[in-house]
Amino acid sequence: MAIEVEHRQVIVIGAGPAGSACAQKLSESGVDVLVIERRDIIGNPAQCGECIPNWGEVVATFSNLDDHQWLKTYFDFPDRLRLHRLDNMRVFLPSGKSYKFELDAFSGHRLQFDGFLGEKAIQAGAEIRCGEALKKIQHQSKLNRDLLVTDKGRYSCDYLIDASGSLAQVARLTKGQDDLYRPKDQIPTIYAQVQGKIPDSFDVFIGSVAPSGYAWIIPKGPNSANVGLGVRAGKLDGNLKQYLQKFCDDLNLEILSWGGGWIAMGGPVECMVNGNTLAVGDAAGLVMPSNGGGISQAIISGCFAAEAIIDNLQNGTNLLEYENRVRASFSRALNNSLRSKKMSYAFMNGDLVTEVLLRILGPIGGIKRAMECDKPLWLI
Ligand SMILES: Cc1cc2nc3c(=O)[nH]c(=O)nc-3n(C[C@H](O)[C@H](O)[C@H](O)COP(=O)(O)OP(=O)(O)OC[C@H]3O[C@@H](n4cnc5c(N)ncnc54)[C@H](O)[C@@H]3O)c2cc1C
Repeated sequence: MAIEVEHRQVIVIGAGPAGSACAQKLSESGVDVLVIERRDIIGNPAQCGECIPNWGEVVATFSNLDDHQWLKTYFDFPDRLRLHRLDNMRVFLPSGKSYKFELDAFSGHRLQFDGFLGEKAIQAGAEIRCGEALKKIQHQSKLNRDLLVTDKGRYSCDYLIDASGSLAQVARLTKGQDDLYRPKDQIPTIYAQVQGKIPDSFDVFIGSVAPSGYAWIIPKGPNSANVGLGVRAGKLDGNLKQYLQKFCDDLNLEILSWGGGWIAMGGPVECMVNGNTLAVGDAAGLVMPSNGGGISQAIISGCFAAEAIIDNLQNGTNLLEYENRVRASFSRALNNSLRSKKMSYAFMNGDLVTEVLLRILGPIGGIKRAMECDKPLWLI
């Protein structure tokens, strides 16, 4: 007997910030949405430094967002998710000299944060099925449809959202290694939840502590923090865990648990729209290449994808409008961020050179602008 195929208007693969924001926005407009999430519990395990930007930081970084009331409200996260205000970032050079900048963000538990976003999508009417993973996509030419095969069922849909994170599972299953659709330059990262004497600011450490990358301490409370590092693949002598262990030992921080993941630092994919499939968040390569932040871009692109589908349904507007809007909002910041990353790959080899270069660039014209994804003055 043939296994039944369940048809849904929109299927979203992945209940991270991108998938949940997209599902909520669609459901609020009366669109039928099913989210398929491979984890048993949304957000578990967390793969994040857990620095979450406030709306002020978002509109200061990206373009064309000031008047978007839905997003502004969405970013008004409740106090219970806010563990620690992150009003400052300090960037430490290899010598220990540091520069301090303002920040408008907070730290939270991604488990709670992602769960909260998923819950809001459900309240809006979306269905989320956890513990179910997309495994295969078969094109059925006679029926002119893609069949989505999970470990629990078979589905078809009018629109498909790839919100599966940096490994872009939908693109992988339909396009293989095609560079046009897959996020590039996957950086291995590791982090730990620690306790000890924790600074009040978001601290970033550049140099041999994390070759061609950086280490971070993100306070989550007076005695606890998320501490991690990301490096360019192939740049380590030992393994990531040893580096982080040493970093924590040197600062007398006790490690309570470990985590890690991949961040795609290669910038936006060239094609975010493939027929009726839209890639959002990390799956579209929207992480900041110079600092690894991607939560806000995930939420915003999820919302834009939903709006593109609604516009397509109501007015027949081309889905490519989604990609145009994403680029119009993010390109300036992402391109500047990518340039900064390429400069650091090219020139920051060894602590001495890194120290000298960063001092020449200076705090305001170079380091601050690179961290904030403005164009460093030395690149103009
Ligand atoms: C170590 C680390 C530290 C980071 N620190 C920060 C930070 O401090 N601040 C910040 O803004 N960003 C940070 N980022 C980036 C941030 O985590 C991502 O940009 C953000 O989570 C992207 O959201 P998303 O919804 O696109 O993808 P994700 O959050 O990755 O969600 C994708 C979801 O899809 C699911 N999925 C995957 N494959 C399948 C499948 N086959 N079937 C069904 N479901 C599937 C996954 O289980 C997951 O729940 C960090 C990333 C890493 C790895």
